[in-house]
Amino acid sequence: MFPKRSLVREALASPPGGKIVLAGWVRTLRCSKGGFSFITVNDGSCFESIQVMAEASLSNYESVVVRLTAGCSVLVRGELAASPGKGQAVELKASEVELLGRADETFPIQPKKHTMEFLRTVAHLRPRTNTFGAVARVRNAVCAAVHGFFQERGFLYVHTPIVTGSDCEGAGQMFRVSTLDFEKPPRGADGKIDYSQDFFSRPTFLTVSGQLEGETYACALDKIYTFGPTFRAENSNTPRHLSEFWMVEPEMAFCDLDDDADLAEAFLKHILSKTLERCPKDVAFLSERNDKTLPDTLKHIIQSDFVRLSYTEAVEILKASGKTWEFPVSWGVDLQTEHERYLTEEKFKKPVILMNYPAKIKAFYMRMNDDAADHGGERTVAAMDVLVPKIGEIIGGSQREERLDVLEGRIRAMNMKPEDYGWYLDLRRFGTVPHAGFGLGLERTVQFVTGMSNIRDVIPYPRVPRSAEF
Ligand code: ATP
Ligand code: MN
Repeated sequence: MFPKRSLVREALASPPGGKIVLAGWVRTLRCSKGGFSFITVNDGSCFESIQVMAEASLSNYESVVVRLTAGCSVLVRGELAASPGKGQAVELKASEVELLGRADETFPIQPKKHTMEFLRTVAHLRPRTNTFGAVARVRNAVCAAVHGFFQERGFLYVHTPIVTGSDCEGAGQMFRVSTLDFEKPPRGADGKIDYSQDFFSRPTFLTVSGQLEGETYACALDKIYTFGPTFRAENSNTPRHLSEFWMVEPEMAFCDLDDDADLAEAFLKHILSKTLERCPKDVAFLSERNDKTLPDTLKHIIQSDFVRLSYTEAVEILKASGKTWEFPVSWGVDLQTEHERYLTEEKFKKPVILMNYPAKIKAFYMRMNDDAADHGGERTVAAMDVLVPKIGEIIGGSQREERLDVLEGRIRAMNMKPEDYGWYLDLRRFGTVPHAGFGLGLERTVQFVTGMSNIRDVIPYPRVPRSAEF
């Protein structure tokens, strides 16, 4: 059995005097002329590394200790001693330093500044840097806060399928799942590929959202959430899009759009405050690195009421802003990141919940509002997007259309076939109820909390167009 060891986090919080065993990876080595060395060792249990003091009297001092380099793994036995240095209360005075695994000078993570682009090429080793260690712990804290929030409120965690036969948005951009032979796929009499011979005897895809399946459980068990991997084959090379990302999707029966917006606001505030509470050192380091105003911004957001605005009001504000937009604004256009960021960063300086978008730019399942007269015959749907500074849209949600005839009408109007949505329409045939939900992008949330500018640096192994390394 591996020797019982303390974590660096525990050791740093302990009083001097205790005898402990530690294991971790060497970050730096500093040999002093006076016949001793300082080794900083990190084990990922917290942001800080511990300083290990090794004296020349150790039997392997010359053969091992002074030859340690960044990346070596070590096991250290010793006694905690009051640290004379600044910053840390204790250091470890080693009685034994055992080399577990050598890392030579080709170890890519040397103690110096590396660019994010370089670190992406060594994504398997980048968690050994301060930045990626901190991001990983924050990501974990965000996930724990997600579950904590819903579990405390009686939401049931439901697992929706990853391989799916339904296309949530009704609009392509999905990855196909198939075992057919690419070189010579079976073809029917019409010359088209015969998917009845495919693995599932039908076309199947990776899910773009668990919502439709989530709705079925909400319409039986009331409050549910899904939280899982989500795939979009869209060619978006932006700092806010991944081809594979994680989405949190709550769905609530007996709810309308205002309830949905209330939930979204409480949810985001909960995530921010729990993460700040759990990872103060990581957030402090990341804000120093990325955006010094970050902790204040997050605290401000936790305390302030989000702005709620209709799409129509937002368009008026954008038109009156005096800005020149890359994408011009008029009622009916889809808002772009530049518009979203203006509203949340410049105009209101806090999160903004935009509600009631034009039906024609939103998905078929969103509930139709009765407001055609207000927009020259165009109607809006009960949609809701939450916009935050630096990111833009972080949550997209809606009240769902619960009226069978209206929903069938919209499916047809979008050139889709109601027959393809039989099970989904059944929810409206059998005991339909008003219900609503939303999707929160996990990685955009981690970006928001960490100030990391590129979404590829907040997921361990980013998948984006033309890149799926590791
Ligand atoms: P956008 O307009 O920014 O591309 P969307 O409107 O397509 O996003 P939704 O379908 O509303 O996104 O998904 C809900 C949430 O999932 C978004 O608010 C966002 O936080 C996240 N999300 C969507 N697409 C991606 C993606 N490609 N990469 C990372 N997160 C995403
Ligand atoms: Mn959206």
